Parts: sequence; structure tokens; C-alpha cells
Amino acid sequence: MAITRQLYQLQELDLEIEQEEQSLNQKTSQLGVRDVLDKAQNRLDSEQKRLDELRHQHRDAEGEVDDLLSKISAIEEQLYGGKISNPKELSGLQHEVASMKAKSDQQENKALEIIDQVEAAEASLTTATDEHRKLEKEWHRQQQQLSDEIEQLKKSLADLNEKRRQLAGQIDSPTLKLYEKIRQQKKPAVAKVEQGICRACRISLSASALQKARSGQPVQCGSCGRILYIS
Ligand SMILES: [Zn+2]
Repeated sequence: MAITRQLYQLQELDLEIEQEEQSLNQKTSQLGVRDVLDKAQNRLDSEQKRLDELRHQHRDAEGEVDDLLSKISAIEEQLYGGKISNPKELSGLQHEVASMKAKSDQQENKALEIIDQVEAAEASLTTATDEHRKLEKEWHRQQQQLSDEIEQLKKSLADLNEKRRQLAGQIDSPTLKLYEKIRQQKKPAVAKVEQGICRACRISLSASALQKARSGQPVQCGSCGRILYIS
């Protein structure tokens, strides 16, 4: 096989290896990245915290109502127990009971309002929990898929590298070095020739360059320096 043809095949292998390595790196970098899950967990935590706070507020409001009610019944016992006969004292206690009842009603309304908020927060927490569960399931599925793809890429890369090793072994060392040197500076290192023109730089080639390229011997484009390949 002509050396330039082997070089061109080597270039195609190198391109394939490069793409697969890139893909492998990209997939490997995604492995174990939990950003989406962490975000959902944070939301879950804050929903839970809000619910806890509201329940606490509700307990406080109910506690205050209970306090007031027991104070009211203690005063009412005094009022109707018949032990107090002083009208001024009685009227004072009646006022106190009335104001405590108003306060107790107010607290009870507040507790009811908080109950509404507790229910809304519970619903919101349920939604967040469901969402988190779904995300977690999907995340594990994606991670498994990533692992599988990474394994496949590693195998495929091992095959490609072995093919490359064999092909490179058939090419003489100076030509291989020339190919590697050009490749470090510009890609592709091997340019196809079409109608006497280097396809990489679009310059017409000299008759002698064309003749050498046709024979399959490595010759560089006089303009861009790439190795010319006529298929
Ligand atoms: Zn050229």
C-alpha cells in the first residue's frame, strides 16, 4: 500500500481516537456530578423547615388559646362562685373576662390561618419530595448509562489504539515523524489532492509535486506544508 494512503488512514484513525477521547473525557467529567440532586435536596430541606416552623407557630397559638381559656374559667368561677359581692370588683372581673375572650378568639383565628398555611406547606413538601424522588431515579439511570458508555468508549479506544499501533508499525520512521510534526502544528496533516489542487489550502500544486504524490511517496504541499494524498 502506498505510504500516503497509509498516512491518510492513520489520520482518520487519529481523528476517530481524538473524538472518542473527547467524548470519554466529557462523560467522565459528568460522572458523579450531583448538582441537580443537591438543588432538589435544598428545596426539600427548606420546604421541611418552613413546615416545621408553621407547625411550631400553630402549637404556640393553640397553647395561648388554652392558657386564656383556663384563665377565663378561673375568673368565671370567681364571678359565679358567689364569694365576691363587691359590684365594682365584679364589673372589673367581667371586663377582664370579655377582653380575654376577645383575645382568645383572635388567637383562635390566627391558629386557623396558620393551619391553612400548614396544609399548603404540606402539599408543597409532598410535591418537592415526589420531584426529588423522580430526579434521583432519573439521575441513577443516567449515571448507569454514563458508566456503560464510558466502558464502551474505553474498549473502542483500546481497539482503535491497537489498530493505530499496527498501522504506524508499517510506516517508516522519518515519514511518521514528519506526519506527527505537521500534526502538532496544523490539522489535518495529510491533505487530499483534487484536480491538481491541495484541498486544505486550495493552491495549485506543481507538476513535480503532483507526480510524486501520484506515486504514493510523501511530498509536502509547497504552500501549506501538508503531506499530499491522491486517492
Ligand atoms: Zn496545501
